Amino acid sequence: MKRAKENQFTFLQNVRLILRGLKIFSSFPKPLLLSKTVSCVFNAAVPFINIYFSAQILNELAGSKNPDRLITLVFITIGLNFAFMLIRSAIGRWTAHCDATTWILMHKVYTDKLLSMDYIDIENPEIQQEFSEIRQHQNGMGFGLPRLAWTYNGIITGFIQIILSVAMAFSLFTLKVPFSSALAFLDSPFAIIAVILVLLCSMFLSPYLSMTGEKIWAKATYDNNKSNRIFSFYFFEMINDNNRAKDIRIYDQKRLIDKGFAYNSEIRSWIGYSKYNAKYSALSTAVSYLSNGLIYLFVALKAFAGAFGVGGVVQYAGAVSQFGSGFTSVLTNIGTLINNNVFLDKSLRFLDIPNKKYQGTLGVGKRDDNEYEIEFHHVSFQYPGSNTYALKNLNMKLQIGRRMAVVGMNGSGKTTMIKLLCRLYDPMEGYITLNGIDIKKYNYDEYRTIFSVVFQNFKLLPFTLGQNVASRLKYDEHKVLEALDKSGFSSRLDSMPQGIETYLYKNFEEDGVEISGGEAQKIALARALYKNAPFIVLDEPTAALDPVAEFEIYSKFNEIVGDKTVIYISHRLSSCRFCDDIAVFHEGRLIQQGSHETLIADTNGKYYEL
Ligand code: ADP
Repeated sequence: MKRAKENQFTFLQNVRLILRGLKIFSSFPKPLLLSKTVSCVFNAAVPFINIYFSAQILNELAGSKNPDRLITLVFITIGLNFAFMLIRSAIGRWTAHCDATTWILMHKVYTDKLLSMDYIDIENPEIQQEFSEIRQHQNGMGFGLPRLAWTYNGIITGFIQIILSVAMAFSLFTLKVPFSSALAFLDSPFAIIAVILVLLCSMFLSPYLSMTGEKIWAKATYDNNKSNRIFSFYFFEMINDNNRAKDIRIYDQKRLIDKGFAYNSEIRSWIGYSKYNAKYSALSTAVSYLSNGLIYLFVALKAFAGAFGVGGVVQYAGAVSQFGSGFTSVLTNIGTLINNNVFLDKSLRFLDIPNKKYQGTLGVGKRDDNEYEIEFHHVSFQYPGSNTYALKNLNMKLQIGRRMAVVGMNGSGKTTMIKLLCRLYDPMEGYITLNGIDIKKYNYDEYRTIFSVVFQNFKLLPFTLGQNVASRLKYDEHKVLEALDKSGFSSRLDSMPQGIETYLYKNFEEDGVEISGGEAQKIALARALYKNAPFIVLDEPTAALDPVAEFEIYSKFNEIVGDKTVIYISHRLSSCRFCDDIAVFHEGRLIQQGSHETLIADTNGKYYEL
């Protein structure tokens, strides 16, 4: 994988990346960006009001000392400050709410992508690695989309500061020192150029130094990918995993884990990065203070020579300082954006991964007669990154209403065949037909409605039992209960405090219930039955059940599956007896097919051996 530590993009590429990133934020509800902008404008403008009124009060004190005017100025200043305090807290609440929403939506961008991605890409190790890196960069130092959001504040605030301070400081150069003064040279073009040079130095050198220091974090994030992964595994994933906690106690793995987590060298390298950053950050501050000091000196000398009053000193010093901080903020944030672009590019490339699965248009047609026939024609498949065939030249027919058992050793291609059948993958060679038409030509959303699958490594969600069974927020309670009854879950359901409204697991609800592997398998079976699809695929559906529960399922099998077409994957051959047809897989090939009696009669065959 490309290890890009520093930004290698051209100016235009950088701009394009930033604009594309901002486009993601602009697709969020409008108030989110608006709240940020309003808050920036407000926060940038408030200090200028105080600078302006302080200058007016000082001018009045040093000048005519008119009590009425003084009192008016003081009251206006206090009143405005009070009003701004109230507005600021209201805006603060609004932006806090909007920022939290933005944060959630920013993560949801990836969730939506993962939920809609082609399944083949989800399983692709390279894509998994890409996503894991994006997550690490984002969660570790906010690189990627978060930094783009953070810099928005700094840039907008900085721009407003620059505009207002230029307006406020303009008269510094137009108000002249009297000709007779020894300091009249302060109005000479040389003096003005010198002041501008100092200002430029502060404007560019200081942010440049600060950016150089900042770059180290981008490098650190790349260099420490591994340690970040270990860190997050050790402190979040591992300690959160109940199953692992059992093994840790039984095998007394605490010391092994402590030793495995060698963090000292990682900590040392982080200290090194901090030192590097601190050095440049200190230099940047020093340059900024020095140049500000020189400009203050210029302002003070002009005031001393009589160009303006003491209020002017406050006004110009304040404006110069605001200008400096505004400019630094804009440049530093632009630097951060540029450093961030390597990560943003990574995120955008991930979000740009196209869905390559061919989207057909034909409707499957809800057939009341359930007349469906599926056939595999010379189908072969290899997983991405693998150089062996998981399935090779498979020819097989599934007829409606029949029960087919698929048997074979682990890794013989049974699950892969199911994944191809459901179009989670498409064949690399050959094709599959439904009623004589290539399954790719059917609309995928419709096509998948005809299958219910209980995968061997199925997962349930930490939602209510009813929602799990129905896979919907709103569902038909009667149908849920019926499915749970068929799958043998009724007696466990009776002991559940809120029936089908009971939450599974404790992720979302404290009173959620933990369920055993066997119970989970029954719920998964109920989920498949609730869907009521004409094809039902059961991949080792009784692996986690106790013998009694398994017997119950077998004895009720006819009632459970009704007239559906069933594909039953199992390596318990005894459970295949009630299937009409048995397909034996070996090393990705279909090597035998027939009834139990015919297959067992072939004493040289694999079935007999198994
Ligand atoms: P079975 O269901 O018969 O146990 P599978 O269909 O799961 O077999 O696997 C067939 C072959 O494909 C095995 O060699 C397995 O290692 C490989 N395989 C399965 N899933 C993947 C995957 N996601 N990536 C790479 N190889 C895989």
